[in-house]
Amino acid sequence: TVSDNEIETVDVGFDVDEQEGPAPVVAVVGRPNVGKSTLVNRILGRREAVVEDVPGVTRDRVAYDAAWSGRRFTVVDTGGWLPDSAGLAAAIAEQARLAVDLADVVMFVVDATVGATDVDEAVVEILRRSGKPVVLVANKVDNAATEADAAALWSLGIGEPHPVSALHGRASGDLLDAVLAALPEEAPPETFLELGGPRRIALLGRPNVGKSSLLNQLAGETRAVVDSVAGTTRDPVDELIDLGGRTWRFIDTAGIRRRHRENQGADFYATLRTRSALERAEVAVVLVDGSEQLAEQDLRIISMVVESGRALVIAYNKWDLLDEERRHYLEREIERQLHHVRWAPRVNVSAKTGRHMDRFVPAIDTALDGWGTRVPTSKLNQFFADLVSSHPHPVRGGKQPRVLFATQAGVRPPRFVLFTSGFLEEGYRRFIERRLREEFGFPGAPLDIAMKIRE
Ligand code: GDP
Ligand code: GDP
Repeated sequence: TVSDNEIETVDVGFDVDEQEGPAPVVAVVGRPNVGKSTLVNRILGRREAVVEDVPGVTRDRVAYDAAWSGRRFTVVDTGGWLPDSAGLAAAIAEQARLAVDLADVVMFVVDATVGATDVDEAVVEILRRSGKPVVLVANKVDNAATEADAAALWSLGIGEPHPVSALHGRASGDLLDAVLAALPEEAPPETFLELGGPRRIALLGRPNVGKSSLLNQLAGETRAVVDSVAGTTRDPVDELIDLGGRTWRFIDTAGIRRRHRENQGADFYATLRTRSALERAEVAVVLVDGSEQLAEQDLRIISMVVESGRALVIAYNKWDLLDEERRHYLEREIERQLHHVRWAPRVNVSAKTGRHMDRFVPAIDTALDGWGTRVPTSKLNQFFADLVSSHPHPVRGGKQPRVLFATQAGVRPPRFVLFTSGFLEEGYRRFIERRLREEFGFPGAPLDIAMKIRE
């Protein structure tokens, strides 16, 4: 038998942190010069703390990992993001809308020495309508004498003003306590995944691949129902759409339907948004433009889905634009660049003509089934016994590691633990995954395969 202290765990599948889900997001919003950056630095303890390492970000980074009282969260300073062309009021309104979409909690910073301005009041309106928790920060209260300035901000009507001095640190601990209290409860993603209700789909893809056109096609006949049921405060941005006689929840359609002005930061926010949509989804439909070559960004989005452990469907859109030659090259591209996700169901559609709209539901069902497949332990061990005898691991340094036994530790996605007598090399692990899929399917599901090595 294998006792615990003889076991070394090597995770060859997912990053465990990834499974715990991303940290909640706190966005800092407010007019220029109210002290947002100073406050962010204060929260970070002035660490050089850039953690979001998102490829393709050309502007200064704006999201940072922070922690208070043992709770991790991500602080986003939306101050740097201002569309160039719009006037100040419009720009700040846009910033607030963005923050509301992205964040679990919004910190709204007002300069208490100035008091509430018209722009502040406009922002309050947006924040209030969103239903997201807001922590009102009355900044620049550097001493007790100016506390009355802070109290005057009760007039904004979004609750208690928290007087702080971001510059000197005064009362910033109390402020962070208030932020923590407003964060959503920490819930393991498993719990969330097993929630009932309509199945949850994230429709993903880089700009212009046809996401909003597709939504219109899908929602067209049934008219989309904007979700206004319980839980609205947490997800006011989804749509319930009837397809194939059932209701589905499309995550973050507000983000798809609303067009943000193109700007330097767009890519960065798109990545954050993709991540948070994935966090709430069960299955991702990644839309790519079949008439163009696969882009780096398409591949990156697909990787994000695989890493998130969600089910995956790949949809090639704009099929009406493809001629014989392009179809040929597309197949080669897929073979070359999407080999690692060849298990994902694929649909070739046109959001413009409506081609193959009826293929979405079967593809999504297939992926969700694969994602939730559980193999009985007896079958699994029969499979490994056969595999080990017909295709043993190559001998390395006089030793031949073997799979002793295996269990399926979970579903959504399927997770396996292999108890082995030595380290299985990469090629052999890939071989195991391929054979597992041949035997049991798992279409649309990334597999998480971990080893426990008994030396
Ligand atoms: P942002 O544009 O909202 O990011 O504002 P900044 O953080 O750049 O701050 C604008 C100015 O206000 C800077 O000169 C800061 O030093 C100053 N400031 C920020 N917080 C405080 C504070 O708590 N008290 C005082 N007196 N000044 C502050
Ligand atoms: P999004 O940015 O991903 O939401 O993309 P849109 O839905 O706004 O589509 C971008 C452009 O592609 C628009 O001009 C659409 O009319 C066009 N488009 C979308 N789907 C199709 C399609 O299936 N065929 C063709 N020919 N054009 C499409």
